[in-house]
Amino acid sequence: MRETVPLLFESGAPGRRGFRFAPCDVPEIPLEEALPPESLRREPAPLPELSEVEVIRHYVRLSRRNYAVDVGIYPLGSCTMKYNPKAGEEAASLPGFRRLHPYQPEESVQGALELMYHLERFLCEIAGLHRATLTPAAGAHGELLGLMLIRAYHESRGEGHRSEILIPDSAHGTNPASAAMCGYRVVEIPSDARGGMDLEEVKRKAGPNTAGLMLTNPNTLGLFDENIAAIAQVVHDAGGLLYYDGANANAILGISRPGDMGFDIVHFNLHKTFSTPHGGGGPGAGPVAVTQELARFLPVPTVERRPDGTFYLERHRPEAVGRIRSFYGNFGVLVRAYAYIRALGPDGLRRVSEHAVLHANYLLARLSPYFDLPYPRRCMHEFVLSGRRQKERGVRTVDVAKRLLDYGIHAPTIYFPLIVDEAIMIEPTETEPLEALDALADALIAIAKEAEEDPETVRTAPHTTPVGRLDETRAARHPVLRWRPPGDGGPASV
Ligand SMILES: *Cc1c(COP(=O)(O)O)cnc(C)c1O
Repeated sequence: MRETVPLLFESGAPGRRGFRFAPCDVPEIPLEEALPPESLRREPAPLPELSEVEVIRHYVRLSRRNYAVDVGIYPLGSCTMKYNPKAGEEAASLPGFRRLHPYQPEESVQGALELMYHLERFLCEIAGLHRATLTPAAGAHGELLGLMLIRAYHESRGEGHRSEILIPDSAHGTNPASAAMCGYRVVEIPSDARGGMDLEEVKRKAGPNTAGLMLTNPNTLGLFDENIAAIAQVVHDAGGLLYYDGANANAILGISRPGDMGFDIVHFNLHKTFSTPHGGGGPGAGPVAVTQELARFLPVPTVERRPDGTFYLERHRPEAVGRIRSFYGNFGVLVRAYAYIRALGPDGLRRVSEHAVLHANYLLARLSPYFDLPYPRRCMHEFVLSGRRQKERGVRTVDVAKRLLDYGIHAPTIYFPLIVDEAIMIEPTETEPLEALDALADALIAIAKEAEEDPETVRTAPHTTPVGRLDETRAARHPVLRWRPPGDGGPASV
């Protein structure tokens, strides 16, 4: 049975209230005097009237329908839906951080600047690079900035004509989108049989027009590109720069550093790898680290330390690409990342990645007898199965994902990366206990058997969730984002 939650706007009854204010003893200015008459509402807004308990129950009921990493495993490949320790929330909500105002004088925010100064150093150490900016608000924002840095670098050398960015066909969609937004032409590099970038194609396509190459390593197949040193050599020899999409760095912490692999620019997603809850659309942070040579182009402001140990914001940097965000980034996210890095330390960070990789390989070993594995290699922190075998039984990957909801588990990423037919991309993360990994494996194995024996049940799933299959295309093309009262030109409920 599907339980329905009535719309808040259609609940309640006239006269119900959450609470009442005491009568106001301050003389009121009549509305007609305070506002021009054309701004005044002629009829009262048709708002619902509800008691406090009705409102509380409405939202708590809605929240119980939601799935979250605090409820169960959330194996969304590429997205790193790890558990975020609550200590990070406490750190970010300390009054000294939470009540800061961006217009406060520098002397009064020394603690915040010190935290940013050290976080920059930590991220540079993890990246194997020289300086970083913490201001970008998301991974894609970091990518855009990284490409602006590539452009500034080439222009400074009189090579502003370089117009192409090489990107593998396994790339996250934001990579080509960011390159295009920055005015670059995207040159696609196919993957080879082992799932890495085809080195011969890189050699063929790198040349005098190459501005740079963007790569995730391990890539979105969860595979480490074994040719990275050779790829870096080819791109650098052609005069281009290497950009590392480190949105998901969960496989490399304390093990390998993009700077050592030959990358010149790296962005991290603090909201994936460094423990800010995400998935609801923000806030996030996509810091960008660069080589010594590129540091002069980083956006303003940077956080600097004076010889006397005090900190300040440097806004006068003549070669900077400018400002890319208001103020200093999403500071609360920076606090969480700082707390996470300090709590774990270098050994703890390394263990994060070791466990992330171990968990992924455990699941891969359990699942590979039941699903096709297009690139049969040991994986890093995630792996990509193909639902080809199930498709032959008329069961698509989307059906498998929907059926998983009946088992009480959030679906993995599906149909990405695009180069895998019926892709199922699983990233368990390091924070899951063995029982949760087994529950996911058991459920997927059970669904693979259902696809053989009872495909109709899988095809019509989910059967137990509050809503069944939605028309996702219509929802994306014609989103209904606002409630309208009946008779006001829109459906009252959807
Ligand atoms: C999530 C992700 C991004 C984009 O990050 P946003 O913060 O969502 O903009 C880019 N690349 C990869 C590989 C990612 O997983």
